Amino acid sequence: MYLNFKIHFGPSSFFVLINTNPDELSEFVHEFIGAKELIVSLLFFIPLLKLNAIVNNVIETTSKFRFTSYTFLKLGVFTLLFLTVFKFISIIEHNLPYLISRSLILNYKDKKFIEDFNSQVNANNILSKNKNSSISNTFIVVIGESVTSSHMQLYGYYRNTTPFLTKLKDSLNIFTDVISPNTSTFHSLSKALTLGNYEEPKKVLALPITTLFNKSGFKTFWISNHSPAFNPASALARVSSQAKSKFFNSKEIVKNNLKHDGELLYKVDEALKDDFPHKIIFLHLIGAHFSYENRYPKTFDIFIDKPKTKFEDEIAYQKINQYDNAVRYSDFIVNKVLQKLKVKKTNSYLMYFSDHGEEVFQNENFYGHLEDKPTKNTFKIPFIMWYSNHFKYPEDYFYDKERKYMTDDLWHSIAHISGLESSFIDNRRSIFSSEFINRKRLILEGKNYDTFFK
Ligand SMILES: [Zn+2]
Repeated sequence: MYLNFKIHFGPSSFFVLINTNPDELSEFVHEFIGAKELIVSLLFFIPLLKLNAIVNNVIETTSKFRFTSYTFLKLGVFTLLFLTVFKFISIIEHNLPYLISRSLILNYKDKKFIEDFNSQVNANNILSKNKNSSISNTFIVVIGESVTSSHMQLYGYYRNTTPFLTKLKDSLNIFTDVISPNTSTFHSLSKALTLGNYEEPKKVLALPITTLFNKSGFKTFWISNHSPAFNPASALARVSSQAKSKFFNSKEIVKNNLKHDGELLYKVDEALKDDFPHKIIFLHLIGAHFSYENRYPKTFDIFIDKPKTKFEDEIAYQKINQYDNAVRYSDFIVNKVLQKLKVKKTNSYLMYFSDHGEEVFQNENFYGHLEDKPTKNTFKIPFIMWYSNHFKYPEDYFYDKERKYMTDDLWHSIAHISGLESSFIDNRRSIFSSEFINRKRLILEGKNYDTFFK
């Protein structure tokens, strides 16, 4: 981590590590670990060759302690003192045994809380209802991956990375100031699609959006170009596993996942053809996740000239070009899905947002999305809505394109715009409601997004 990004392996990296999937992990290793990183890492293992001698030494020394000499007491007091100071100046966050123990305890506590919460939810048969149950409903939520609005022509980027969406822009609602709560897929989406948010992060295991729609009489679809989550008990896995129909295009541990998002389109067709009257389709793209060059077919190798960047080197040029090609391919996919939905002529909308953004040599000299190395572009995401002519807007519907929104509350927005009614839905947290209340957009353990990057 230090060699690549000049950061220490911190708590957020650790949480990502225990919640990632083998595919994402192998992609990261493939992308960032080379011979230099490997050799330096191996150096850390040299002391282990002397492990036997070290352990024997410790045993021998500690066995000499006598309570009568107060050595143990003194040692204990010093240890506590050091730990207190370390905790106070946050340096303990870099201690691996501490990180692991704290994570395990927190995991256990959260699990207990959620089990109680979910058993209450499951016992409740009138949890929520669909206000528009007398007509048919077809909603599509397209979840982009690692797409920052800062690389989209639709949001003012200098290259034509979104020709299709730009052509449609008069029929779209384009929100200009939406950010993700985190910069990893797992953290962002587990908040966006559950009751969990900045204020109550442990609720990421509570009431997945798919459960809410199931209970409201919808058929829920989860179509993904990612592999299923490594840990089936994790928040995001709970969201997808609750869908009535699930499809994961990538199942293997693939070093270079070469499966393009276009492979999901026939699954969208199938879902749209399903004759159940009320449907919501979640489409989780691989979007513009690195390795960028694997995200689009050859025909989308469009940007090949020298891009605009203050970081003058060949790697930067290459990555920016590949990333822009991937963004352009995502534009193509979203448009394809929208054209399919348009044919339905029913109460429908399409929502497109990205799980988080990406830095690609724009403000900082690196590419990727790491919470330990945050930049504005790793949080800035597109948020776009399309509504059919038959769409039933909620009574308190209100459109403010500049509304400052963070997608940790997206659960409320999706439920609200879809016409669901439940005591859990809070319209003050819906981007589509006149009752919306602005709140501080806190990221990175308490930093205010709106002032942090200026
Ligand atoms: Zn992601």
